[in-house]
Amino acid sequence: MVNAAVISVNLYILFIVASQWLLIYQPLEIGSGQIGYLYLIFYHFLVFMLYYSYWQAIVTPPGNPPNNWLPEGKTIEDLNVLVEQYSNPFNSLPSKSTTIVVDDIQSDSNGGSTSNNTDDHNSIGSSGNRAINNVNNNNNSKSLKTRFCTQCKIFKPPRSHHCKKCKKCVLKQDHHCPWIDNCTGFKNQKFFLLFLFYVVILGALTIMSLVIGGFYILNFNLKVTTNEDSSQGPKFVKFNTKTIDSSDDQIPFMVPGAIVTVLFILNLSSAIPVVLGVLGLLFYQIDFLLSNYTSIERFERKSLSKYSKKNGLKFHWRYDRGVRQNFREVFGESRLYWLIPVGIPKSDGTYWKTMTVEEMQILYDKDNKDSMV
Ligand SMILES: [Zn+2]
Ligand SMILES: [Zn+2]
Repeated sequence: MVNAAVISVNLYILFIVASQWLLIYQPLEIGSGQIGYLYLIFYHFLVFMLYYSYWQAIVTPPGNPPNNWLPEGKTIEDLNVLVEQYSNPFNSLPSKSTTIVVDDIQSDSNGGSTSNNTDDHNSIGSSGNRAINNVNNNNNSKSLKTRFCTQCKIFKPPRSHHCKKCKKCVLKQDHHCPWIDNCTGFKNQKFFLLFLFYVVILGALTIMSLVIGGFYILNFNLKVTTNEDSSQGPKFVKFNTKTIDSSDDQIPFMVPGAIVTVLFILNLSSAIPVVLGVLGLLFYQIDFLLSNYTSIERFERKSLSKYSKKNGLKFHWRYDRGVRQNFREVFGESRLYWLIPVGIPKSDGTYWKTMTVEEMQILYDKDNKDSMV
């Protein structure tokens, strides 16, 4: 649960916050003015939320399928047969994969066996039927077939995958993240997303504060030096609205100037790439969230989309229930808790509501109508 990566993330956040005090807040007396004081409260509230989200992402198990979960049409006896077979190493077939597909009798939807479709491409009706066929194809796809994990010796519910690092099957697995030393999945997806969100917000504020504060300090010190002999020095308005005369000393730091310089360089040169990197990851994760797919499902979704496009079919990802529903499925119904890393999904993560053929047909008809207007 706590490894070197987790410790280094914690220490890095601490380093950035402590640097803010040494470089900006204390020397510029930010807390002595009302606006500055409020800013400090806001900044440290964000720090708290960042740590809280991070902690929740680490300690919340992503969710594992129950041992006795049964897919439709399977009985506990079917499960026992497989468990017995894979408990005995002499009986089980050697395989690198942790998953075997049971009853693999249907053709793979990605295989393109129905791709030689000679229907009239201009006919809405026939295209509509093909759209429905496509949904059916989607529902036959590999991850919806009956799967059995040879390591956990359980039937795998849809969207769950075996994690070799966690040594368990994980519900709605997205990926195993070394920075949280945990899988992101069904139960901690919201916490992981909030962690990324607070890193970006706090990182952006930190960079802004370093650039503006740094520029102010540099400018002040330069002017003080330039006007040393002048009888009337420049006046500077501080954040606490007091004025400083050039006769004052330069802005006082708690640490020597060389350390201030090194800290500025270290903070800026590390915070900018970290924020940009996490921002990129956050964009990906937001797309996963709003379109309801995971990084593992990305390839299947892409290949189904390509297949549909190639054959003039309407593509719709089977778990995509619209942006609003997709978002609420992970972040919950209550807006009050959207930005707070609490709460886990109410369902058990083994059943996933997908679009029915009828819903798909309505959507298809609507899209066609819209495109004809
Ligand atoms: Zn497993
Ligand atoms: Zn894992």
